[in-house]
Amino acid sequence: MFIGHYAPAAALKPLSPKVPLWHLFVAVQFLDYLWSVLIIAGVERARIVPGFLEASDLDLYFMPYTHSLAAAIFWSLIGAAAYRLMINARAGLPGAILVCIAIFSHWLGDLLVHAEDLALWPGSDVKLGLGLWSSLTISKGVELGLFLGGFILYLGGTSPKGAIGRIAPAVVTAAMIGIEIYAVIGTPPADIRIFAALALVSYSLIAGLAAWLDSVRSPRRR
Ligand SMILES: [Zn+2]
Repeated sequence: MFIGHYAPAAALKPLSPKVPLWHLFVAVQFLDYLWSVLIIAGVERARIVPGFLEASDLDLYFMPYTHSLAAAIFWSLIGAAAYRLMINARAGLPGAILVCIAIFSHWLGDLLVHAEDLALWPGSDVKLGLGLWSSLTISKGVELGLFLGGFILYLGGTSPKGAIGRIAPAVVTAAMIGIEIYAVIGTPPADIRIFAALALVSYSLIAGLAAWLDSVRSPRRR
């Protein structure tokens, strides 16, 4: 799952003007940021197997510290605490709760699409995954639906500051769908560490786009 992960970030943003959209964009990919770093460091393991699932070439066979259910809960709480204490104290407890939900939403998104590779806890033999990635049409349809739904809630909860604020949502949507299409039709890198590095770069670029989008729109007055 790629753009679908951003649906909760977009949907949650209107609930707190004190939490920038890009913070939520980083939060929903926080587990994958950690995953990318641990893959590059060789602590977690995965390999590229062309045709592994119809919509994914990733065989994610060892990622207990970032993608087990216990790890996802742990990182959601740690991330929320760090957000409250160090990153954005101004957003208060409500902001930290939004960040907690955003971080954990990543695991639920992965649960939908992954093969059975999400362990309950590190070392557990029980692995979960509903496997939507085994169908390209269904998984991409669900992902696009989630993304557009989240984005519509964001647009409903904010208003444009000017002409740029009116066209910016279309620009960001097109860029994100473009990256998704590239990920589907492009050839994956042979080395999983390059894949992880590319993930870090693309998540950060998208967070930058979110910061720009947020700067040209303001919270809607109720
Ligand atoms: Zn993930």
